[in-house]
Amino acid sequence: MEKMCCPNCKTNKSRFYIIDQVPRAVKLSNDIESTHEMTVDSEKDPFFAPYSGPEYRVQCGLCGTIENPEQFIKTANLN
Ligand SMILES: [Zn+2]
Repeated sequence: MEKMCCPNCKTNKSRFYIIDQVPRAVKLSNDIESTHEMTVDSEKDPFFAPYSGPEYRVQCGLCGTIENPEQFIKTANLN
């Protein structure tokens, strides 16, 4: 893992939460009374674009800021 530093508090270089992104594709069907959520296989739906978000996000263990890992790595390389 690369060196990281919190882009917000700028003091934390050691305590982080790694938040794994586990995307779940859902389809919503809207009835008059309510909305139903159904988990689907997005690869079988030609109109469903693949997930393109980050593999994981990072939370600072001191101030609680959540950002993509690039922000933490960039801040570490500035100092
Ligand atoms: Zn912080």
